[in-house]
Amino acid sequence: MSGFPTHLLSMDDLDVAAIGEVLRVADSFAEVGRRANPKVPTLRGRTVATLFFEDSTRTRMSFETAAKRMSADVLSFAPGSSSVNKGESLRDTVETVQAIGMDAVIIRHASSGVPAQVARWVDHCAVINAGDGCHQHPTQALLDVFTVRQVLGGGDDGLARFRGLRVTIVGDVRHSRVARSQVAAYAALGAEVTLVGPATLLPPSLEGWPVAAAGHDLDAVLATTEVLSLLRLQGERGSGTFVPSLREYTASFGLTARRAARLAPGTPILHPGPIVRGVEIAAEVADLPAARITDQVRNGVAVRMAVLFLLLGQGRHDGAARG
Ligand code: ASP
Repeated sequence: MSGFPTHLLSMDDLDVAAIGEVLRVADSFAEVGRRANPKVPTLRGRTVATLFFEDSTRTRMSFETAAKRMSADVLSFAPGSSSVNKGESLRDTVETVQAIGMDAVIIRHASSGVPAQVARWVDHCAVINAGDGCHQHPTQALLDVFTVRQVLGGGDDGLARFRGLRVTIVGDVRHSRVARSQVAAYAALGAEVTLVGPATLLPPSLEGWPVAAAGHDLDAVLATTEVLSLLRLQGERGSGTFVPSLREYTASFGLTARRAARLAPGTPILHPGPIVRGVEIAAEVADLPAARITDQVRNGVAVRMAVLFLLLGQGRHDGAARG
């Protein structure tokens, strides 16, 4: 096993070897997911808590399904019905959760940096960032890369296929933790990333963004794009005030059927969800075979099983899917 980190807080925690390891272990767990009884005893006796201080549909269900498929006990913390409502601090909540006896804490929070802070407070449990503010959402980037590798193939571990791969990320990059994690993942694998969006929703400076280009003309890059990754306008982070209107946003940056037809046949279209049909993606485009949104969700479970396996250190990946 490579030097897998103690916590998964950011894509920057993972080098190419570690990304490759996640993908290979996820291959085994994807196979488990296809079985009639998709359950393995790998994490029996381990306890995993999900602490979601911000809304989520797929990420929370995905992590909980991943942990349950590995036979872990899962505790689901809902701040709305917890002592947080009585004024308990995040630190006290985390210490309570740790004292109950968790092996991993999966945390989502509207403030950037919270998972890293929690990682400093705990001493014997792994922390996984399931999305913090505009900062990072590493398992989303890992499942995106897994999905792209599945679509494009490429022999051996499939990573060579990413070298020079032209990936276009479209939309509200500025407020997107997904974009930050994706860029780190694709750049680590040698892909050539182009950011496209309105000037107000691109990062004010590209310093620290390992991308090939950033621009405002989606139509100009469609023909050469090999992977198209769309982002949702992050209304909860104020992105609505950065565009004149949704209609104007869609006119310039929405993936309409006309734009989708200009992509090379088979170009994978990705979206982390939740999709807003008619804004960043037309309803009929979301249902095209090239739109891999459902595959992303399915692959998310296998990728999160791999992350839990590697963090909770049950052994080498060859044994991961045993049972
Ligand atoms: N589900 C992703 C996230 O939590 C993307 C989104 O919400 O737009 O960041």
